[in-house]
Amino acid sequence: MQMMLCRAAAKPMASFPRSMKGSELCVWPGMRQLCLRKNLLYGFVRLFSMPFKTLHNVSRRLGGVSNFCSITNMSSSLQIELVPCLRDNYAYLLHDVDTGTVGVVDPSEAVPVIDALNRKNWNLNYILNTHHHYDHTGGNMDLKERYGAKVIGSGLDKERIPGIDIVLNDGDKWMFASHEVLVMETPGHTRGHISFYFPGSKSIFTGDTLFSLSCGKLFEGTPMQMLSSLRKIISLPDDTNVYCGHEYTLSNSKFALSIEPGNEDLQSYASQVVHLRNKGLPTIPTSLRKEKLCNPFLRTSSTEIRQSLNIPLSADDAEALGVIRQAKDNF
Ligand SMILES: [Zn+2]
Repeated sequence: MQMMLCRAAAKPMASFPRSMKGSELCVWPGMRQLCLRKNLLYGFVRLFSMPFKTLHNVSRRLGGVSNFCSITNMSSSLQIELVPCLRDNYAYLLHDVDTGTVGVVDPSEAVPVIDALNRKNWNLNYILNTHHHYDHTGGNMDLKERYGAKVIGSGLDKERIPGIDIVLNDGDKWMFASHEVLVMETPGHTRGHISFYFPGSKSIFTGDTLFSLSCGKLFEGTPMQMLSSLRKIISLPDDTNVYCGHEYTLSNSKFALSIEPGNEDLQSYASQVVHLRNKGLPTIPTSLRKEKLCNPFLRTSSTEIRQSLNIPLSADDAEALGVIRQAKDNF
C-alpha cells in the first residue's frame, strides 16, 4: 500500500455563505493559499520508503525536485493522506496537527485505514461519508467499533449510511477541529450525495460526483442534477484540490481523448497520467483548473465534443451531459 501526505496550511475563515444553491457562487475573497500543490512532489516522495509516501504541498517545483512551502500558520495546519482501498478506491485521512483530531473520508474497508492509523499512531475521531455506496462506507462499522469514531453523512441518506451519528445538509458548516467544513449537496450519482469543502485548505472531497476527467454514473439522478452539482463544485476557486473517490483517471483520459482529441491541455494531462500510473503513483488530487480545461463533463459546450457525439449546437448543457454520460457508459 502506498500513502501520500499533503500538508496545507489553513487560514480560518471569518465567515462564508451558508447557502450555495444552484450556480450561485462561492468565491470567498480573503482566502489565502499559503501553500498548495501536490502532484509535483514525487521527487520528495521517493525519499521515503514504502509503504509510506509522504507528500507535502508546495507552491512551486524546482527541476523536478519539490520545494517545501513555508507554512506560516502551523497552528491550523491540516494534513491529508491518501489511503488506497479495494481495487481503485481512495479513502483519505485528515489530521489536525494541533489537536491530533483525525478523520477519514469514505473508508470502503477498515483494514487499510487501520494499518495507516497504526503506522502514524493516530486514533480516529470521525468518519465522513460522501454517499451510502458500500465502496465508500464498507469500513464504517468496524472503524466505529474499534475507535468510537462518529459517522457523518447526509441527512437525506441517514437510513442508508451505516452507523450514522451526525447528520449534515446542504450549506451546513461543520468544524473539524479548527477547520471549517462546508457541506455541499451534490446529487446525480446518488440522491443523497454530498461533498465536503475545506475552504481554508482549498480542498474538496467529491466522492463519486466529480472524478478527474469524468463524473459519477447517474444511478439516482438526472443529467440536470449532475450538471448543477458539477457547476456548484467548479464555482469554487480554480486552485481548489479535488480528492475524489476512485483512481479512474487513466481510463477516463482515453474516453476524453476519443471525443476531444484536439484539446492540447487534455493531451498533455493524459500523458502525465500515463507517466504517473506507470510508476504506480496516484493522479489525485487533481485541481479544478485542470478539470475545467480537460474534463469532458465540464466542457459540454465544446464544439469538438458536440461534433464527436453528434450533439446539436442547439442542445442545452444538461442534454449534452446526458449524451456524454451515455457514450462514456458504453465506451
Ligand atoms: Zn458510488
